[in-house]
Amino acid sequence: MVHNFSAGPCILPQEVFKEASEAILNFNNLGLSLIEISHRSAAFVDVMEEARALVKELLNVPNGYTVLFLQGGASLGFLKAAYNMAGTHKKSAYINTGTWSTKAIKEARFTGEVDVIASSEDKGFNYIPKGYTVPQDVDYLHFTTNNTIYGTQFKALPEVGNVPLVADMSSDIFSKEIDASAFDLIYAGAQKNMGPAGTTVFIVKDEVFGRSPLQIPTMLNLETHAKKDSMFNTPPVFAVYVSMLNLRWLKKNGGVKAIEAVNNKKAETIYNEIDRNDKFVGFAAKEDRSNMNATFNLVDDSLKERFDQLLKEANINGLKGHRSVGGYRASMYNALPLSSVEAVVEVMRAL
Ligand SMILES: *Cc1c(COP(=O)(O)O)cnc(C)c1O
Repeated sequence: MVHNFSAGPCILPQEVFKEASEAILNFNNLGLSLIEISHRSAAFVDVMEEARALVKELLNVPNGYTVLFLQGGASLGFLKAAYNMAGTHKKSAYINTGTWSTKAIKEARFTGEVDVIASSEDKGFNYIPKGYTVPQDVDYLHFTTNNTIYGTQFKALPEVGNVPLVADMSSDIFSKEIDASAFDLIYAGAQKNMGPAGTTVFIVKDEVFGRSPLQIPTMLNLETHAKKDSMFNTPPVFAVYVSMLNLRWLKKNGGVKAIEAVNNKKAETIYNEIDRNDKFVGFAAKEDRSNMNATFNLVDDSLKERFDQLLKEANINGLKGHRSVGGYRASMYNALPLSSVEAVVEVMRAL
């Protein structure tokens, strides 16, 4: 068995892979593949509707919100968020906690003025900024809930007052309970914790539709997709289907609350070892550590070759840190079992 710590695309449950592969050959006993039938067929419309309903159910999304499965990744989501959330202030506020926030800020500048109200760039993005105030004369506040590359995570929502809240939740959606009602817009690329690459989920408060004073290009306008039940154009059928299977798996296993307890246990297991073992040092500030991506370094780099060899011998895959941070990163998404984290800890102790 390979322990898969890949940061994204990432591990999904084996039973999801099995069901998905069966659907490639013969979907719902139709004698046809999932990927050769019309997306307008009743069989696929059912898939899309179940996927959208599962998102609402698992995240406790209240009435008055619409769930969409779109294309373009979170990277196009940056621009979609900016276009659709624009308002009369012609100005938005962003918290910069790393590469993905920086990219989101860049895209938002295509649509208007951006006020970066807080940043952790001064320390290589190893912490979550605190003590900032959100100006009330902005159209929205955008933040990245979990910083995949640096291993930091917001433990509380920014206090926004009356300002609409927008979040890129690509790498921690469905990992823990959230208060969806606090947000006007949530978006997340599927490939970190929801499904295969190729689709991006949007959870949009219905009041957002039609709010923007900008001329939004058709495909970037969330209302376009909402009006057509997420079927304005051909959806990425396979990515939506596998996401749906994975959400079914999550529901069957007790939902977000149950997986959150497992995720906490996994994170505790690796961070305890990082703190206990004097050969390793954590990258992220302790109070801001991510439960999804644990980042750490060797204190003595000359041990690297041996540590890498031990990881390989233990069938541990994907532990290499992001090229911009270096060191190691254990991505512990929902489908990763606690036993895989224990396998890493064992190697850390053997070093
Ligand atoms: C991976 C990631 C992205 C980029 O997602 P794409 O789907 O590749 O565009 C954006 N934000 C966060 C937090 C990520 O982890």
